[in-house]
Amino acid sequence: MAVEIIMPKLGVDMQEGEIIEWKKQEGDTVNEGDILLEIMSDKTNMEIEAEDSGVLLKIVRQDGETVPVTEIIGYIGAEGEQIEEGTKASSDVEVARTTEDLKAAGLEVPKAPEKTEQSLASANKEPLADNEYDIVVVGGGPAGYYGAIRAAQLGGKVAIVEKSEFGGTCLNVGCIPTKTYLRNAEILDGIKIAAGRGINLASTNYTIDMDKTVDFKNSVVKTLTGGVKGLLKANKVTLYNGLGQVNPDKTVTIGSETIKGRKIILATGSKVSRINIPGIESNLVLTSDDILDLREMPKSLAVMGGGVVGIELGLVWASYGVDVTVIEMADRIIPAMDKDVSLELQKILSKKGMKIKTSVGVSEIVEANNQLTLKLNNGEEVVAEKALLSIGRVPQMNGLENLNLEMDRNRIKVNNYQETSIPGIYAPGDVNGTKMLAHAAFRMGEVAAENAMRGNTRKANLEFTPAAVYTHPEVAMVGLTEEDARAKYGDILVGRNSFTGNGRAIASNEAHGFVKVIADAKFHEILGVHIIGPAAAEMINEAATIMESELTVDELLLSIHGHPTFSEVMYEAFADVLGEAIHNPPKRKK
Ligand SMILES: Cc1cc2nc3c(=O)[nH]c(=O)nc-3n(C[C@H](O)[C@H](O)[C@H](O)COP(=O)(O)OP(=O)(O)OC[C@H]3O[C@@H](n4cnc5c(N)ncnc54)[C@H](O)[C@@H]3O)c2cc1C
Repeated sequence: MAVEIIMPKLGVDMQEGEIIEWKKQEGDTVNEGDILLEIMSDKTNMEIEAEDSGVLLKIVRQDGETVPVTEIIGYIGAEGEQIEEGTKASSDVEVARTTEDLKAAGLEVPKAPEKTEQSLASANKEPLADNEYDIVVVGGGPAGYYGAIRAAQLGGKVAIVEKSEFGGTCLNVGCIPTKTYLRNAEILDGIKIAAGRGINLASTNYTIDMDKTVDFKNSVVKTLTGGVKGLLKANKVTLYNGLGQVNPDKTVTIGSETIKGRKIILATGSKVSRINIPGIESNLVLTSDDILDLREMPKSLAVMGGGVVGIELGLVWASYGVDVTVIEMADRIIPAMDKDVSLELQKILSKKGMKIKTSVGVSEIVEANNQLTLKLNNGEEVVAEKALLSIGRVPQMNGLENLNLEMDRNRIKVNNYQETSIPGIYAPGDVNGTKMLAHAAFRMGEVAAENAMRGNTRKANLEFTPAAVYTHPEVAMVGLTEEDARAKYGDILVGRNSFTGNGRAIASNEAHGFVKVIADAKFHEILGVHIIGPAAAEMINEAATIMESELTVDELLLSIHGHPTFSEVMYEAFADVLGEAIHNPPKRKK
């Protein structure tokens, strides 16, 4: 059945919109996400994307016409399909822009054109030989294993090649090991506050058994990587272990074996970035991969790079009692974060004993008597037993040399469909450098697999990807920082609420930090949410969902947040955008 295109309601006040121009004509093929038309509400011009793929069967309302919101303006469906016209969407619907809105309003939802077997890559094609696959995925990290399973779900015959351990950087030497150790740091913080809460431990003395911390971390990793392998096998994905050498004809050589894919997904991820300064080759300079397996505690650690990895790992070691100094080139740690949040975190970490030097770089490392002297470019020196190099990551191109792919600043260039310059070869995840986060890699892998299986129909929209730092307190963000929002929009509103007055936070000894919401001054569209405080990494997912759903501040405030919860602080920060936070002092009128 054909799907209706309706005049969207783009804000609480919008009653009607004018069709400026249809960008597609009747009979045109449209893919989900294609721009269909441009409309104007009383506030702004806006391009409207297709929410389904098919053929634009009919344009009901023409360029220049003004149409009440939720009224039908066109239809998308299968080629040659007859339309049953006249079903006007209810004007009672407050916000009806998508089929989900219609569902929520209890209205019948038109069915999307069915995806038939014919749209799958393996349909209507020559049968595959034993060593041939619909999809060969190279790299078994988040982008790769997600892509492989999604392709298998869609009916593909799939192989995945991994040179090391399945689960990639994230499970083996990234997200999971660091969070296992950061939980140790949190437990140690708990010991410190116990007495103040009336829990008298026989002694607050402790020692760290380094072997046991590493063994425990390894057991966590093993559980999860085993789970990934199990899932791949359960989805009948064929697993190959070894370096995959990929060729332009879509063959992949693993040792003496060669397999071939109709389509290839390169999900080879990233590796530690290195700097070329004298002394960097010292064995006492560790990467994040090395430090996770350290079984002897150094007395002191110099961290080169105050990004997420440097700060998280620096905090782990500082919590164990190691003398940690962070050296960061930018004027603040984790410079991608909102400035207020970054400065607050810096203050909290300094109180925890971490030394943080900003606006300075390391120009030379001298190793002598089993310790390092890091010479900084402002003339200072930092002496430490070990150093951690954490200045970022670069794409992993080993095995891809024969492809001669188009690159963008040393990263594989991909289009919106995650496809490289070679048709039928996709490159999701860290290897394309768009957003080097595991959950972004999941999405890119999923999108690449769908496009490889069905033809390029789905774009990876990463605009509202949340990011978190798992320090204690946690830090998280989604969308624009205040600085970026001001530069882009000029007139913005900022709402804040602090955890210092939040019941659950006070009851939990977690009453520090705040939530900051950035909104557009005119329509109260949410541009960014920044949190430093308890459960920030969990709460930010709510903010990401709100932004993805394009809720305005006014709409969000119609929701009720449970009490007592940390999330109430986020709700109040939204309310503060409009000067309506109950637990904030009244805003002074300008
Ligand atoms: C210390 C640290 C902490 C992190 N913490 C977080 C976090 O908390 N949250 C978060 O979202 N992200 C985190 N990240 C980032 C996250 O790990 C990556 O964004 C994510 O792993 C990228 O997934 P991917 O599949 O693109 O690549 P990877 O995970 O790097 O996987 C690529 C895989 O491909 C394999 N491979 C490469 N070349 C070949 C070849 N030619 N043949 C066969 N196999 C090959 C590799 O061995 C690897 O297993 C962290 C990273 C680090 C280093």
